[in-house]
Amino acid sequence: MTGTLSTSLEGLPLLASALMAAERGWPVIPLHPNSKRPAGHAERACPGTGRCTGGHRTPEQRATTDPALIHAAWANRPYNVGIATGPAGLLVIDLDPAKPEEPEGAPDGATSLQALCERAGQALPDTYRVRTARGEHLYFTAPTGMRLKCSVDRLGPHIDTRAWGGYVVAPGSTTPDGTYEVAHDAPVLELPDWLAALLNEPDRPAPAPVRVHDGTRAARVALERECAVIATATEGGPNGRNVTLHKSACKVARFVAWGDIPRHVAEQAIQGAGESTGLPPAECRTTIRSALDWVIAHATPREAA
Ligand SMILES: [Zn+2]
Repeated sequence: MTGTLSTSLEGLPLLASALMAAERGWPVIPLHPNSKRPAGHAERACPGTGRCTGGHRTPEQRATTDPALIHAAWANRPYNVGIATGPAGLLVIDLDPAKPEEPEGAPDGATSLQALCERAGQALPDTYRVRTARGEHLYFTAPTGMRLKCSVDRLGPHIDTRAWGGYVVAPGSTTPDGTYEVAHDAPVLELPDWLAALLNEPDRPAPAPVRVHDGTRAARVALERECAVIATATEGGPNGRNVTLHKSACKVARFVAWGDIPRHVAEQAIQGAGESTGLPPAECRTTIRSALDWVIAHATPREAA
């Protein structure tokens, strides 16, 4: 079957795309024509009737492999096709381009993934791939006994993953950015263990907000605010976190320079926030010290600030 599919994929009608996904055991949902948004109402607008009698049903819960339901839905409108990755037993790696506002040479998703594989000393299996409007989807079967959720930038910059709680736009669909097409019509392979392990790490517990008792009110507020900024910094991997740590430490350092808060109080609080992001303690200490040293040596008097 697979051999004949690739020839019929060009100009694939959307209904055929939906039926083909369902035949593979991948539940589908209709997406608005020319869009990535699921058709149907949002939870906050739920009428509580029809299919939602007894509670709102999310797109993931509505996704179906039933050919009769699929025929009925796609008979109405040229819906794009969404595949509900969780119930489909899929883990799809979504590679996106770098954003226009990023510096030139910033890695896109494909480059990030290649770097990740090189660091891990692993090759990526030659699995089924779909060219998306702006990047690529790599399809894998999700490991059994592991309920992987979606992730954003967890594996690296511009690498997202779709599993439970998400969906992917299926080949045959079109958005204003372009058409989704099968790029490599190979069997869908199992997600490698080393990637599953990276995705299965427990989420870090949300750190408790820092409360400071020493120093002037303005200094305490600034320190608490910067600690919160640091603690929520996840963007861009370790480098992004370190940059945030440095910037926040510099902001607090002014208050240390002015004598508004003791240095050890600021250092201790920022250190805790930095470590809560997963940065190594020694790296946090170095970054914080150099930021404080520099700002304290160069701080302008408060009147001039
Ligand atoms: Zn509803």
